[in-house]
Amino acid sequence: MDPSAYRIFFIVTTGGSSLTTSSLSLSLDLVIVGAGVFGLSIAYRALKAGMTVAVIEEQCVGAGASGGLLGALMPHMPARWNPKKEFQFQSLLQLETHAREVESETGLATGYRRCGRILPLTSDDKLQHHTERAEESQIRWKPEETGFSYVVEQAGSRADWLDPASAPFGLVHETLAARISPRAYIAALASYVRMNGNLFEGLGFRGYDERTGKVRTEGIGPTLTCERLVLANGYQAYDTLQDFTGQAIGRGEKGQAILMDGRGLEDRPAIYCEGLYVVPHEDGTVAIGSTSDRDFQDASVDPRRTEELVSRATAFCPSLKGREILTAWAGIRPRCNKRDPMIGLLPEHSRTFAAVGGFKISFGIAHLVARALVSELAGQTPEVPLPETFRPDHHFGTNLLPADQRE
Ligand SMILES: Cc1cc2nc3c(=O)[nH]c(=O)nc-3n(C[C@H](O)[C@H](O)[C@H](O)COP(=O)(O)OP(=O)(O)OC[C@H]3O[C@@H](n4cnc5c(N)ncnc54)[C@H](O)[C@@H]3O)c2cc1C
Repeated sequence: MDPSAYRIFFIVTTGGSSLTTSSLSLSLDLVIVGAGVFGLSIAYRALKAGMTVAVIEEQCVGAGASGGLLGALMPHMPARWNPKKEFQFQSLLQLETHAREVESETGLATGYRRCGRILPLTSDDKLQHHTERAEESQIRWKPEETGFSYVVEQAGSRADWLDPASAPFGLVHETLAARISPRAYIAALASYVRMNGNLFEGLGFRGYDERTGKVRTEGIGPTLTCERLVLANGYQAYDTLQDFTGQAIGRGEKGQAILMDGRGLEDRPAIYCEGLYVVPHEDGTVAIGSTSDRDFQDASVDPRRTEELVSRATAFCPSLKGREILTAWAGIRPRCNKRDPMIGLLPEHSRTFAAVGGFKISFGIAHLVARALVSELAGQTPEVPLPETFRPDHHFGTNLLPADQRE
């Protein structure tokens, strides 16, 4: 949506708090910078915890990486288990309930479905490896309790969807993986925030004075003061964090995905093959992605990348051959130098927090990250604590972006 529309109407699009045409300043518990999946999930959870909240977004909802197409919610492999994998596992277990709750509260669909995933096995080594993973899934995924399975199937299985020539040693079928419509999900979260809090589009963050609580902004919107501020402005947060702390802890990485006509394929499982996802969605589209470019000059869609995605996907998924390409999209993922997201209070700050760096798994974990951060803001112990590798201590200091990768 054109953010200028919101510039005119921002007063009527805000929700629960006391903003009116004659009252152009707001004093809040929490201001969140960025209306992507992290910022909106934190706003949603903070509102539920009874906080007064505003999200400020420089452009419009979904202008960043969260406005994409793929929506793959894929578990880490059940091997070499660690607290990060356990956190993601718990997140994926809880996401369906959360998505249904958001749907019933807003009346908007999220496109969530537990679609499962297949992974072709292309060598004997891979077959052995995944047979071991299938065994470990018995311990890690607790199938008797959760109902989710990770099973190796023989060559030729699911030949109506995955080309058997691409899976000469069989395939894995796992039932924990799911998908969501990124755009529908964040539209639903944004709707909740508008109804119960405040969402200002076209309002850019420029600074925060921890002493007075004043938020410096650019654009048309109210004067804001807040008790606490959360930076959730995607890859651009790395510049903000560098301004605040003097340290470079991550960077943006460009990715591209496409949507093809997928009518009749809505019920198929997602496929993950050679680093590429094919994800059928319930609106009769199939999302394919994604590419990864660390060094890029141009953030827009590259038609050569679109062709590459089509040719790679149709090679292992012949049902896609000849189908229309509906759209292509490129975005910039936030990636911390240490790969894991960074969630929590900034070093040497007392009121400024960050939630940044979900990289390729943000949609599956944002709701649980939000729960943990909001518990921390409320001085409570989270039910599912954040792994140590998500904490600011892990990211600052020795884990900085190497000097030759800083801008
Ligand atoms: C091609 C591609 C495919 C992907 N596929 C998947 C997938 O299948 N599953 C998955 O889980 N993840 C996927 N991801 C990753 C996921 O999209 C991102 O990790 C996630 O969207 C990041 O969310 P965010 O809220 O941190 O940032 P963003 O969505 O980037 O949101 C940040 C927001 O902050 C705003 N902003 C920036 N600066 C300011 C400022 N100064 N003031 C106010 N607002 C500001 C921006 O306009 C933006 O709207 C994919 C990413 C790409 C690029």
